[in-house]
Amino acid sequence: MNKNTRIKLNDGLTMPVVALGVWQSHEGTKNAVLTALKNGYRHIDTAAVYHNEKDVGEAIKESGIPRNEIFVTTKLWNDDVRSGNTREALKKSLENLGLDYVDLYLIHWPAEGYLEMEKLQKEGLTRSIGVSNFRKSHLQNLLSKVHIVPSINQIETNPQMVDEETIQYCKENKIGVEAWSPLGSGACLNNPKIQEIANKYQKSSAQIILRWLLQKGIVILPKSVHENRIKENIDLFNFVLENEDVELINQLNQHKRTVPDPDNFDF
Ligand code: NDP
Repeated sequence: MNKNTRIKLNDGLTMPVVALGVWQSHEGTKNAVLTALKNGYRHIDTAAVYHNEKDVGEAIKESGIPRNEIFVTTKLWNDDVRSGNTREALKKSLENLGLDYVDLYLIHWPAEGYLEMEKLQKEGLTRSIGVSNFRKSHLQNLLSKVHIVPSINQIETNPQMVDEETIQYCKENKIGVEAWSPLGSGACLNNPKIQEIANKYQKSSAQIILRWLLQKGIVILPKSVHENRIKENIDLFNFVLENEDVELINQLNQHKRTVPDPDNFDF
């Protein structure tokens, strides 16, 4: 595994295993994306509701890197699903990004609207389609209706929050898993056990957590607006966690979410 490693999706396309997340990057977005691209990232995770697709698009253009070398994900927001504006929402995102297509379009929270996304994929406006914040029960319900199995489920995953049941179901159904808030929005970094393991490997807490997720076969989307951290968060390929340390981190799971459970969230 190295920073160019890609996972194969169930639709035959591939995705780099490390992405830069840009939720709450605010006015730092463009600079963060440029910094990430300069340092080897080839995967950016944004969403319509982050209101920074324009900055992401400008950075991609300014980077000079060919479009087909960068994997871009954006997401369909709940209001657009409810008002039946799925197509318009993707068109608006593409306009903001300055792109003809995205690599992955995700439905942001479990809602109807996926069947419309299947059409958008057929038209080439998005290369892959997937879901976010779907638990096993949402996926079971979805798979009974769809023609195209989602390629990805993007869910909150970090040492204090692992939904093993959903991850297992995704594996069984060849749905790739992406970890959002891989660092628990920063909350996992001060965990004494993580810090102990970080000392053992002479790595930062962030690197230990991100490497743990990669070794579990999960794609990571760490967010930072700081150059040193952006670099650190992809510098993960010159060490391997021993199984006993992977297990120690597995044991930190508290099913503790930073946002409400998708089953009980009024979106
Ligand atoms: P992360 O778990 O990535 O943590 C980000 C926080 O940790 C920021 O405060 C950042 O600070 C800090 N940080 C990052 N790297 C380091 C480091 N090496 N050392 C110390 N601190 C560090 O949180 P997010 O909640 O932002 O999630 C990541 C991405 O996941 C989002 O940007 C978004 O793309 C996606 N996401 C998707 C959701 C969904 O519903 N589908 C929901 C939430 C997130 P700073 O920036 O100041 O460096």
